[in-house]
Amino acid sequence: MNKVFADLPVTVFEAMSQAARDNNAINLGQGFPDDPGPEDIRRAAADATVNGYNQYPSMMGIPELRQAIAAHYGRWHKLSLDPMTEVMVTSGGTEALTASILAVVEPGDEVVVFQPVYDSYLPIIRQAGGIPRLLRLEPPGWRLTEEMLASVFNPKTKAVLFNNPLNPAAVVYPREDLELLARFCQKFDTIAICDEVWEHVIFDGREHIPLITIPGMRDRTIKVGSAGKIFSLTGWKVGFVCAAPPLLRVAAKVHQFLTFTTAPNLQAAVAYGLGKPDQYFHDMRQELARSRDRLTKGLERIGFPVLKSQGTYFLTVDLSPLGLNETDVEFCKRIVSDYKVAAIPVSAFYEQDAVTSVVRFCFSKKDETLDTALERLSDAV
Ligand code: GLN
Repeated sequence: MNKVFADLPVTVFEAMSQAARDNNAINLGQGFPDDPGPEDIRRAAADATVNGYNQYPSMMGIPELRQAIAAHYGRWHKLSLDPMTEVMVTSGGTEALTASILAVVEPGDEVVVFQPVYDSYLPIIRQAGGIPRLLRLEPPGWRLTEEMLASVFNPKTKAVLFNNPLNPAAVVYPREDLELLARFCQKFDTIAICDEVWEHVIFDGREHIPLITIPGMRDRTIKVGSAGKIFSLTGWKVGFVCAAPPLLRVAAKVHQFLTFTTAPNLQAAVAYGLGKPDQYFHDMRQELARSRDRLTKGLERIGFPVLKSQGTYFLTVDLSPLGLNETDVEFCKRIVSDYKVAAIPVSAFYEQDAVTSVVRFCFSKKDETLDTALERLSDAV
């Protein structure tokens, strides 16, 4: 069997969701909201289903959605994209990333990856024959540094995978860090695959800056997005790849044999959603920030040191000052079985030199879900 996959554990998100089901626990592990999502967008999907969006759509995505993606990024980021040659719809962000990695990486190529790293990146890089060059971001800031990049970038660096906003650290990167990364990409002729699925889930007036908009990066960045995250409809699995035509063409050749296409009724509904006024997105941020604050305050009251979340559905707590004498994995096992609350151990986002004292909680939940979880955790430390 294929060693890249045969020896892998089941992804931590599925494993913890299964543990939550087995223990009848509140699931603050895998990132998904527990409300049904925007009603008008769900209705748009129902209407599209009834009105005939049910056969194979175009491999690249239905034209309405590709146009809506281009218009959306034009409106939010002044990014000008040709919907027909620079935009592709995929079955979720994970497929978009896989298509992008397989499109770029060839055997022997080096690929720079930052830890904490989302768990789908490394197996796909290895399947392509790429050699991951791992860097380690340090809490609490998780910032990029010149020394760090200089230690791995070299003429063999074919690609860098960069996740911004960063899951699980919940950091939104400032322009300075993006410009630093862009300098290295240009110096070593490196392609950036930028996982920006959390681009709209940012708080406190922060701005998301797509790496593709940094000068010199337009033709060397593959931008990955996700409607599931933008509209809190994570099970829909509608993702996007945006890139200059020479990059997108090859990603499309991979996509045609991964999933070929994506449910057209959902694509039609996402096209409708992306056209919603700016205020909708601002309100969504505000609502999620309120949930973040509710969980943050509740956890702090219990005594957990919370690392403040700038974006994503997640916040992290640092167990090290608590003197619990257990790792993040042990802590997560204990709270799911004894307190009926599931969380994600951040060490799952490392392949080497793991941070083993940080745990991720998902706050994109109803108030009563968060309050019950907090009540259950009240004597966990
Ligand atoms: N991105 C989600 C998270 O971090 C997980 C998605 C998945 O389970 N494939 O929780």
